[in-house]
Amino acid sequence: MAETIINAQKKINKMNSKKEIISPLPPLYARWTDELLGGPIPKETEADCSNCVRITQDNTLPLPDNTCFHPKIKCCTYYPSLPNFLVGRILKDTDMPALPVLHARIDNGFEVTPLAVKSTPVHNFLYNKIVDLGSGGFGRAELLRCPYYIIDKGLCGIWKHRYSICSTWFCKHLRGQTSRDFWLSLRDLFSDGIEKSVSLWCFSQLNPDVKALEYSLNTSTLPNLSALELDMRVDPIQQKKLWGNWFGKEKEFFIQCGELVEELTWNDIRKIGGILIESHERVVKNYYAKLFDYTLPDRLKLNVHKIVEVKSGYYVLYTYSHYDPIELPIPVFESLRYFDGRPVPEIMKQIKEEKDISFDDSLLQLFVDFKLLVPL
Ligand code: SF4
Ligand code: SF4
Repeated sequence: MAETIINAQKKINKMNSKKEIISPLPPLYARWTDELLGGPIPKETEADCSNCVRITQDNTLPLPDNTCFHPKIKCCTYYPSLPNFLVGRILKDTDMPALPVLHARIDNGFEVTPLAVKSTPVHNFLYNKIVDLGSGGFGRAELLRCPYYIIDKGLCGIWKHRYSICSTWFCKHLRGQTSRDFWLSLRDLFSDGIEKSVSLWCFSQLNPDVKALEYSLNTSTLPNLSALELDMRVDPIQQKKLWGNWFGKEKEFFIQCGELVEELTWNDIRKIGGILIESHERVVKNYYAKLFDYTLPDRLKLNVHKIVEVKSGYYVLYTYSHYDPIELPIPVFESLRYFDGRPVPEIMKQIKEEKDISFDDSLLQLFVDFKLLVPL
């Protein structure tokens, strides 16, 4: 029991440690969020991507359970759609190991628009079939590994310029759902706000051709995959309409987009994105404040959870995420049944009298962050 309480204390201490507060975001996004938040973002030290916590030790298949990932994939069963300005930054950064992959994508032209180098419809179709944890495909199917992943190094080949979804996803969080809420809000700010608005802004700065704009804005997709989509072939007539006066100069276009965003401040981003960015910004700031707030609710009750394993003297529980289970000594877990929405001090007194167990605030905070206990 002591061990789990000590671990809980360690997690809370990590959030408070100045040493751990280094932005985990890529440089451009880190600069904008520093200006937006006025303070640093706590690093998710539980999900160390350079020493992935999810991969199996023996590198053999089949993998032991659906939350273990293949060592040659990690969580990169994904195909990002890179906005034009990030494409430009990658093209200019000769240190990026996946640069040849991006060059090949642009040379091929398939799903390469003035707004983005997109994922492929086939990958999207297959990805939608495996996102459910039960399929066992996420993090394990080599067919769906991201093309920008460098297999022999086990690393992202565009790490310094990765986009919203890749920058904000972590398999484990220091403060459970409290941290995840923040990262999801930041993901939405970047993906729905910044990446859409800023890529359009770059486009408008460089391309006055209204027909090309019309074709770029048309995101309607057919319900079924066409032969062109399955084979990743480009229709040259459509491609000319899509690129207008930049046809044949696509890489130059992307590089100029990358240069355009170089000097943009957060205030510039606000002006470009207007009410959309402002709205996301309010949500992000709200969740950012919660990352540093350790106020416990007055009343708590036990939330839905799933016991997935019984070890000697411990339960392993899924609470807010299947990827981030918590281990609890059986007596501690059983005393949580007392939490029925009454005031917390009253419940703590009863647990002390009947079970002779006391929780300190940091352990209660951990239960709240991991949604094992929720406010009434
Ligand atoms: S976020 Fe991905 S790469 Fe990082 S530790 Fe988790 S599974 Fe591994
Ligand atoms: S871009 Fe990088 S982080 Fe994102 S899925 Fe690909 S390899 Fe992984």
